[in-house]
Amino acid sequence: MQKKLSASLKDFSAIRIGGRADIVYFPETISELTELLAEKPALPVVGGCTNVFFGDLPELVCAKYLNKISEMSGGVVAECGALLEKLFDFAAGVPATVGGGVIMNFGAFGFELKDFLRSVRVWQNGAVKTLAVEELRLGYRSADFAGVVLSAVFKRKRLEKKAEYLKQRQEKMPWGQPNIGSIFKNPAGLSAGQLLEDAGLKGFKYKDLQVSEKHANIVVNNGAASARDLLELIERIKQTVQEQTNILLETEARYIG
Ligand SMILES: Cc1cc2nc3c(=O)[nH]c(=O)nc-3n(C[C@H](O)[C@H](O)[C@H](O)COP(=O)(O)OP(=O)(O)OC[C@H]3O[C@@H](n4cnc5c(N)ncnc54)[C@H](O)[C@@H]3O)c2cc1C
Repeated sequence: MQKKLSASLKDFSAIRIGGRADIVYFPETISELTELLAEKPALPVVGGCTNVFFGDLPELVCAKYLNKISEMSGGVVAECGALLEKLFDFAAGVPATVGGGVIMNFGAFGFELKDFLRSVRVWQNGAVKTLAVEELRLGYRSADFAGVVLSAVFKRKRLEKKAEYLKQRQEKMPWGQPNIGSIFKNPAGLSAGQLLEDAGLKGFKYKDLQVSEKHANIVVNNGAASARDLLELIERIKQTVQEQTNILLETEARYIG
């Protein structure tokens, strides 16, 4: 198994925010991953790091080399580190993985990953298990499940509108600027981005961070922002929106530190 010592976690997170990890493990087979988890059950596991920012950590597992995809009768099996955009057009342009996609129930353009999932192989309580989709209790950008996704079986691929969805993302998002997609979940029936815009926060700058001028639910890192800066900005935004609307926003982006 490959390992990186004293790794800069900035180089992993899509928003380029992170401290250091003493060791980052890169398992190359599922059994290397489960053997590692059997020895160190509390290790955090990440995939594409498109929804996370980091503080300092002792150890981390990055699943990006567990990326096999194989067709089978009635579906497709993908390891946790496989890129979602190789399977689903609605993830076009986002380097998110199957594991992170399942845990966040990735969704866009009216689709959600749970609609395509058949079953999931997981590491849970020290054992490998196969779970039916219902057992993960997937909701809006959430899973009620504690464990590690090893691989997933999908009913089918969907790649028809890849170019169209990529174009739409490039038009609507601050493309090319470091970001982790939506920072907040949309409250029921409302748009978090619109709430931020109405609160006058579009374009708001805080240290080296900025609420995107193009999409108010996305924060970009203009260079040297730290995890503390982003956590502070998130709190400020929540407070401002709550003062103005009485709505408490829920954070979608995840801090690991
Ligand atoms: C440009 C851009 C566009 C985006 N657009 C969308 C969008 O349209 N829709 C949407 O839903 N999201 C979007 N996102 C957010 C992000 O891509 C999703 O949340 C995605 O599901 C995260 O996948 P990941 O592999 O990057 O997970 P990571 O960021 O690596 O991890 C996310 C969480 O999942 C956990 N995790 C990762 N792998 C595993 C595993 N194998 N087992 C257990 N836990 C695991 C991590 O510990 C962490 O808590 C976007 C992000 C970016 C940067």
